[in-house]
Amino acid sequence: MNQSDSIPVTAYLGLGSNLAEPVTQIKSARLAIANLLGVREISFSSLYQSVPMGPQDQPDYINAVMGITTELAPHALLQALQAIETGQGRIRRGERWGARTLDLDILIYGDQMLDFPDLTVPHPGLAERAFVLYPLSEIAPDIIIPGKGAISGLLAKCPFSGLKRLN
Ligand code: ATP
Ligand code: MG
Ligand code: MG
Repeated sequence: MNQSDSIPVTAYLGLGSNLAEPVTQIKSARLAIANLLGVREISFSSLYQSVPMGPQDQPDYINAVMGITTELAPHALLQALQAIETGQGRIRRGERWGARTLDLDILIYGDQMLDFPDLTVPHPGLAERAFVLYPLSEIAPDIIIPGKGAISGLLAKCPFSGLKRLN
């Protein structure tokens, strides 16, 4: 960590899995994230089941959203999340939105808007994805998403269809 990493920022992460016991994958990922140096868990949504985006010949997903505070800079956080994906057996086949053991996306990083070739924040799909917005609204009901506005406005335009909240 360098000096610019040191002010804690509230961030929200999207977790998804549709292979190799997805619920277990999500729970393991939650622990791995909470145990990262420079990360503290502050909230965790219910688990949701969602129909896949893109290729339909794959199992349903389990999704959740996790709130953290972190001293890691955005790219350091991305790198740490990708290491957890790899550690949990994610194989990148080049197909977009194909089945995977674990997907960890940075949804929101404080009030920052970032547009790097390998990192866009807030996550570009966030506003259209029920499996992101509904769990996020559970743990951050009043959040204003940088560049996109209040979550209530986004929810109003995003039907709950294809999504099921699990107990
Ligand atoms: P989507 O990003 O549409 O949800 P995906 O999660 O399946 O699709 P991945 O294969 O996990 O996509 O990641 C592809 C690339 O997206 C990563 O290599 C990463 O560099 C880049 N990326 C850009 N913005 C983000 C972000 N906010 N969080 C995570 N990865 C991001
Ligand atoms: Mg994703
Ligand atoms: Mg991803």
